[in-house]
Amino acid sequence: MKCVKCNGNAVINIRRANAAFCKEHFNEYFTEQTLKSIKQFRMFRKTDKIMVCVSGGKDSLVLWHVLHNLGCDVTGMYIDLGINGYSDRSKEKVTAFADKFGLKTIIVDLREKGYPIPFVARRAKREDCAVCGTIKRYYFNRAAYDGGFDVVATGHNLDDEASRLLANIMHWNDEYMDNTYPVLPAGGKMLKKKVKPLVRLTERETAAFAILNGIDYVMEECPMSKGATSLIFKEALSTIEDKMAGTEIFFYTKFLERVKDKDRSKTDSDEMKICQTCGMESFMDKCTFCRLVEKVK
Ligand SMILES: [Zn+2]
Ligand SMILES: [Zn+2]
Repeated sequence: MKCVKCNGNAVINIRRANAAFCKEHFNEYFTEQTLKSIKQFRMFRKTDKIMVCVSGGKDSLVLWHVLHNLGCDVTGMYIDLGINGYSDRSKEKVTAFADKFGLKTIIVDLREKGYPIPFVARRAKREDCAVCGTIKRYYFNRAAYDGGFDVVATGHNLDDEASRLLANIMHWNDEYMDNTYPVLPAGGKMLKKKVKPLVRLTERETAAFAILNGIDYVMEECPMSKGATSLIFKEALSTIEDKMAGTEIFFYTKFLERVKDKDRSKTDSDEMKICQTCGMESFMDKCTFCRLVEKVK
């Protein structure tokens, strides 16, 4: 297998692009695909202050690395979810990575806050992943606002977004379809714009980028996500892609084309209220987060 750019030995084959690359040209391809999404969806400007949500997994660490290499002003934001073992190992990967490349980090520890996910879920009698989503969203929004960031970037990749789109179509969840768009606009005065620069790259490619560039990441999945239905849609999509290379990116990019002119400006700031408990913007007098953690007190 030869690199299509330099004819040297290829380290990876990308069937949907009908190409194979050596390490150097794969890195180039990876960065170009990221830049293409950033430009096409006007994710941010060179001078913007970017916060990257990191979990210790490959996608978020790779995104952090790529944005840093592009010369962006980027800070990693990590939330220790308080899941014994898994959280300790993922935090180790994040801090080791930040030290290795000399990067700025914000860390929130839910054990210190008194809200470790398994505890809150048990006390509130709600599903772990739902509780985790609410709490993570809250602290990410809060850190982005408090830190004066312009934009929040997440490591969602093509497989994440295409499989979520597939799941939403199969359930005809029209109202959630938009969540798979690569840019989610700012809301009110406090909620920052969210962007997903890796939407053109697959999980296999982010893993390859991590390994080739010495990025050590936590390989295990979150133990609480076992049996998540999202994995079934990912597997289905992977089976289809395996038989018909290029179908996944076609499916996702055609969706983006169809909805590109839709008005995504969220709720007007005057419709937003201020949470009486924590002072963050909310649709109600008390925000979802404050209503949730009230149950554990
Ligand atoms: Zn090459
Ligand atoms: Zn609140």
